[in-house]
Amino acid sequence: MKYLSTRAAATDSTERKRFCEILLEGLAPDGGLYLPESYPQVNDATLLKWRTVYHEQGYAELAFEVLSLYIDDIPAADLRALCEKTYTAAVFGTGEIVPLRHLENALYLEALSNGPTLAFKDMAMQLLGNLFEYELARRGEELNILGATSGDTGSAAEYAMRGKKGVRVFMTSPYGRMSPFQQAQMFSLMDENIHNIAVDGVFDDCQDMVKAVSNDLDFKRKYKIGTVNSINWARLMAQVVYYFAGYFQATQANTEKVSFAVPSGNFGNVCAGHVARMMGLPIDKLIVATNENDVLDEFFRTGVYRVRGSADTHETSSPSMDISKASNFERFVFDLLGRDGERVKALFGETLAKDGRFDLGNDPAFKQAATRYGFESGKSTHADRLATIKDTFERFGVMIDTHTADGVKVAREHLQAGGPMIVLETALPIKFAATIVEALGREPDRPVRFDGIEVLPKRVTRMAADAEAVKAYIVQHCP
Ligand SMILES: *Cc1c(COP(=O)(O)O)cnc(C)c1O
Repeated sequence: MKYLSTRAAATDSTERKRFCEILLEGLAPDGGLYLPESYPQVNDATLLKWRTVYHEQGYAELAFEVLSLYIDDIPAADLRALCEKTYTAAVFGTGEIVPLRHLENALYLEALSNGPTLAFKDMAMQLLGNLFEYELARRGEELNILGATSGDTGSAAEYAMRGKKGVRVFMTSPYGRMSPFQQAQMFSLMDENIHNIAVDGVFDDCQDMVKAVSNDLDFKRKYKIGTVNSINWARLMAQVVYYFAGYFQATQANTEKVSFAVPSGNFGNVCAGHVARMMGLPIDKLIVATNENDVLDEFFRTGVYRVRGSADTHETSSPSMDISKASNFERFVFDLLGRDGERVKALFGETLAKDGRFDLGNDPAFKQAATRYGFESGKSTHADRLATIKDTFERFGVMIDTHTADGVKVAREHLQAGGPMIVLETALPIKFAATIVEALGREPDRPVRFDGIEVLPKRVTRMAADAEAVKAYIVQHCP
């Protein structure tokens, strides 16, 4: 299996790479995102086999089966061991790893948030931590991960990389802007290789600092700076597995179809659903649920992809979906446009950079987003979120977080007669307590292992929004 850039010309096969070559890389050198040359096809016999694998041998073995189709430069025994080390009941709280819960009629909730940081990002990041450690050891190299977070990504990365050999994490976050629980999760980590940097500024300032450091190519090379952001192919690939696991739990036979509703921001989660569907998993609809930051809903309704400025990016009560552009979206557009890399390059590298938007509304391909690829979309607001959290709790006794509530709200608008509709639960309510209190008039449930986390000692360095200061800090903390 080789990987190509979404901006590569179809005739150019020189830049194609293997999995371990792109594992530690971010963007492709031409600014595009990596995708497999073709999607491995899963036929009925394989699907039948995997159904049994998941039910009888478990999630880790299913992950091994799926990943084997995408990774041919790690020996099978090693890859299996990495999957087994990652997807354990001890790390993810349950033997099923991603248990399915029935709400009513065709509506289900797939739990993806029982990992160490209580958000679905653990599903991929925990594997990434083990893959990084493995590959760095094999190469005899080290990596300094520099990132920016407004909450979920940073903590998932830190919990995945803590104590890992060869890896250090330098995570910037906007000072005082994360929820108290999220701050406590990150800042209470005492591991030597984890560095929390609280920046006087907003999330965009953090991101700008990371960009500035990464653009200093000499520094980047000398200090082996890397990232773990959601454009990393390995993260996306890891997420493909739980679409299969959800399908096997919701159906009895491979003749049945299911739909997924996915709370979306950077389009990473639902893009994994697209990949699963392209592999042949019987998915009917992929429903993209956005919050007030409706870049994606606008595209799927109109064909216009319009990047927002910082002034019209809303701060919402589902903050992990507060995006101005959807970093992974280019991957889907590449498929939608018949894998025409030159056209993708023109759209994302030129038109978008110049005009801040492009319009596929009149392109015949646009209709296929719905007809051929199964995409639908919808939007949810603060009021919808509160109502959905309240309704779900009152009628089913199930407490959902604000992001999942956006998914449930939009899923309800797209319930067709027929197959199951699985909403992906992307975080637990304890991470966003203030909005739960607003909706329910009570504090959210707290898993016992997080009792008293807010009063633990904190390990964090406060810093001005200055890329030079971050560089100096990294230099100081690399032996
Ligand atoms: C990251 C995140 C999302 C958005 O996922 P994307 O892959 O960026 O679309 C939704 N909900 C929660 C809780 C998240 O942490």
